[in-house]
Amino acid sequence: MRTPNRHTSFARRLLTLLSFIVSSLPLLANQPAEDAFIGERERMVERTIVARGVEDEGVLAAMRAVLRHEFVPVAARAQAYGDFPLPIGFGQTISQPFIVALMTEAAAVTPNDHVLEVGTGSGYQAAVLAELVERVDSIEIIGALAERARNDLERLGYDNVTVHHGDGYFGLEQEAPFDAILVTAAPDHIPQPLVRQLKVGGRMVIPVGPVGSYQTLWRLVRVSEEQVQLENLGGVRFVPFIRDTR
Ligand code: SAH
Repeated sequence: MRTPNRHTSFARRLLTLLSFIVSSLPLLANQPAEDAFIGERERMVERTIVARGVEDEGVLAAMRAVLRHEFVPVAARAQAYGDFPLPIGFGQTISQPFIVALMTEAAAVTPNDHVLEVGTGSGYQAAVLAELVERVDSIEIIGALAERARNDLERLGYDNVTVHHGDGYFGLEQEAPFDAILVTAAPDHIPQPLVRQLKVGGRMVIPVGPVGSYQTLWRLVRVSEEQVQLENLGGVRFVPFIRDTR
C-alpha cells in the first residue's frame, strides 16, 4: 500500500474543500430569507401533525414545503408555525396546521387530481393542495381576501392555483367535476351543488354544524351517481359559511 506524501494529501484536502465550496455555491446563492423558518416548520410537522396521527408522506412533505409564514400578517409571522388558527383580517382565520394536514390527508389526492377549495382565506390550504395535485381552483366570498390570496399565491410561484371570487355554496360549475372538494368554512348542511360537482369516486371534506359552535368534520365519498358515503372525522371549530357575496 502506498502512503501518500504530505503534498499529495494536502492537495487532496484542498481539492475536497474546493469541491465542497463549489457544490455549496448554488445553495448559498439561493439561500432565501424564509430559511429562518425551516426548523420551525419541521417542528410543526413532527410535534403537531405526525404526533397527532397524520401519516401520508406526500401530505407531510407538502406541509414541510409551504412557507406558512408568507400567508399570515407580517406581525404574526413569529406565531405562524404554532398549532392554532391566526387572524387574517375581515374576521377570518388561517386554519391551524393540524387541521389543514388532516383535511388534506382525508381528501386522498393523487398527482393528476383537480381539486376545488371553498374558502380561500389566506391561500395557505390552496398552496398545500397545489404541492400535491395538478390543478386547484379555490373560491372565496370576500373580494379583498380573494385578491390578496391570488397575489400571494402568484408571488410564491403557485401557478396551478386559480382563485375565484364568489359564493362557494354553488361550487364552480364551469370548472367541475372535481376529484376532491375541501370546504374550510362551516355550513349548517352539505351544499348539494358541491356533491353534484364531485366525480364518482370523488371525496369531499367538510365541517358541518351550527354557527358559533363545534361542528363535525365529514369525509364524504361519492360512491355512485346517486349515493354518497359519510365518515365522521371528529369535532372541529371553523368560521361560519357566509351566504351573501360582498
Ligand atoms: N382555507 C383558508 C381558511 C380560511 S377561513 C386558509 O387556508 O387560510 C374560511 C374562509 O372561507 C374565509 O376566508 C371566508 O371568507 C370564506 N368563506 C365563508 N363562506 C364562504 C362561501 N360561501 N364561499 C366562499 N368562501 C367562503
